[in-house]
Amino acid sequence: MKFEDVIAMIREYPDFPKKGILFRDVLPIFRDPKAVEVLIDHLSEKLSEINAKNGGSKIDVVVGAEARGFILGALLAQRIGAAFVPVRKSGKLPGKVSSVVYEKEYGPDTMEVQYGSIQANQNVVAIDDLLATGGTAGAVERLVMEQGAKIIANLFIVELVDLEGAKKLTAQVYSAYKC
Ligand code: IMP
Repeated sequence: MKFEDVIAMIREYPDFPKKGILFRDVLPIFRDPKAVEVLIDHLSEKLSEINAKNGGSKIDVVVGAEARGFILGALLAQRIGAAFVPVRKSGKLPGKVSSVVYEKEYGPDTMEVQYGSIQANQNVVAIDDLLATGGTAGAVERLVMEQGAKIIANLFIVELVDLEGAKKLTAQVYSAYKC
């Protein structure tokens, strides 16, 4: 299977979750183990290239935002031998947490990470299925940086380029498919 065949598995749903939104659904990729392998091969190779240009430090942690970032993050972390740390909406993670408030379309929202799950000076990569306005990925970056860790890259399957989300992010962005 070629990488283009994996991207062709993404389905588009007009008017979901509300009128005027064209929703890109990456979940069909996860129904095919070979497609998952090709996707994670691709993303881990791109990450190696980005990391090599930044001095080639060991990646300690992959963070993934709720919910599809959990699937991608766990797969990538296992592949590269890094820890996986989930970033969740408020009130879902037990114990002490670090939080950031960020602006969404209909007002502020909060994202959290378990306190101590990311150590100061660790090298961190963030991954999610899709970059739109950059609000979510920007909040993830802030959470990582507030732990004293370094964010090396933001990886996505899909980037909606017209929304210019990449401009809001500090670390380098790689998106497998731009539309
Ligand atoms: P942003 O914060 O505006 O960049 O939106 C990105 C977040 O919303 C990510 O966590 C995505 O999973 C989710 N999202 C927004 N639009 C889509 C879509 O068309 N398909 C899948 N997820 C989306």
